[in-house]
Amino acid sequence: MPLSEQILAGLRADASAQLPQVAELRHALHRVPEIGLDLPLTQQIVLDALADLDLEVSTGTALSSVTAVLRGARPGPAVLLRGDMDALPVTEDSGEDFTSEHVGVMHACGHDLHVAGLVAAARLLAARRDEIAGSVVLMFQPGEEGDGGAEQMIAEGVLDAAGERVVAAYGVHVASALLPTGVVSGRAGTEMAAADSLRVTVHGKGGHGSAPHRALDPVPVAAEIVLALQAMVTRRFDAFDPVVVTVGAILAGTTNNVIPEQAELQVTVRTFSHATWEVVPAMITTLCESIAAAHGLTATVDYLRGYPVTVNDSDELDRTARLTRELFGEQAWQTMPQPLAGAEDFSYVLEQVPGSFVFVSATPAGVDARTAPYNHSAQAVFSDDALVIGPALLAALALDRLGDAAAR
Ligand SMILES: [Zn+2]
Repeated sequence: MPLSEQILAGLRADASAQLPQVAELRHALHRVPEIGLDLPLTQQIVLDALADLDLEVSTGTALSSVTAVLRGARPGPAVLLRGDMDALPVTEDSGEDFTSEHVGVMHACGHDLHVAGLVAAARLLAARRDEIAGSVVLMFQPGEEGDGGAEQMIAEGVLDAAGERVVAAYGVHVASALLPTGVVSGRAGTEMAAADSLRVTVHGKGGHGSAPHRALDPVPVAAEIVLALQAMVTRRFDAFDPVVVTVGAILAGTTNNVIPEQAELQVTVRTFSHATWEVVPAMITTLCESIAAAHGLTATVDYLRGYPVTVNDSDELDRTARLTRELFGEQAWQTMPQPLAGAEDFSYVLEQVPGSFVFVSATPAGVDARTAPYNHSAQAVFSDDALVIGPALLAALALDRLGDAAAR
């Protein structure tokens, strides 16, 4: 059962009315950015901001996460809303008057807006407790930027924090450029890539450069592997389910007349489907080991899994698009024409629970989204206006999903 126009208008109005306090919270977070899995200042700000909301709050063991469960007035299933909390090792040059006070650390990916936005969504939902049949799990997550905090929170039970497995999960990511002001964007299926890395070590036998027959030269073998990897991605995979392999570093040797003992390749691998992500490590390993063996050498392949593919459930993406339009008008939704090659660890949640992860424009009004500094830039400026759209959408998703369950 879709949310009534009255409920949607109420969410819009309340999200706008609470913007000054939410923006103040965001600025407080922005001033004290922290990196990684241990974010004590950020965690304390979250705990203080939630203190008056009558939630069941717990904190992480291996990381400084905060999980809060909001109980509706009536029983029902649970849904999850997520905001990541960590910053980046960037020296801020945004010109904001609430600029970072931590030297060399900046909320350059806008996760300060995700934290403040999730608190704002919690306020919207707490004020509507009587209309909620079920529970909402609020997942405040450290360590998105490479540390896999989402995976650790899942291991510590966030998906079952309400006493049962959540039936849906939603998250948003702000963007300081690319999307015009006021727009929300996403796509069904693959939204973001998986990002793996590997190190290939070709083991040879060192010797004199004048007598390669008395050695086992790892350099031509490494060179053959570099080219064979590029042939593999074009010949072994569907052009519409591509693989991107980049050898970013080749390390071998010391001088012109010495054959080195070994050569090392450092590689990033991007994939866009779970099926390809599953098979690519074995294929790369076989390729590298076989080329080395063909020349009488050996190769060691250390394949390191990064974040998996971020996949939106098509029904939940439809729900997200519909609610965006109902809340903010037809022009507020843009379907993404293709996935982004970046990776995101909310993918671990979406592997287990159907849901959606979409981008909310935080491009400041009047700024050209095509040329504005993008996320991770020291100059990135994220507009507080995203703190109306993001929280209203997250709250609407929870209400709409739980309303669906109650209507069944
Ligand atoms: Zn981010």
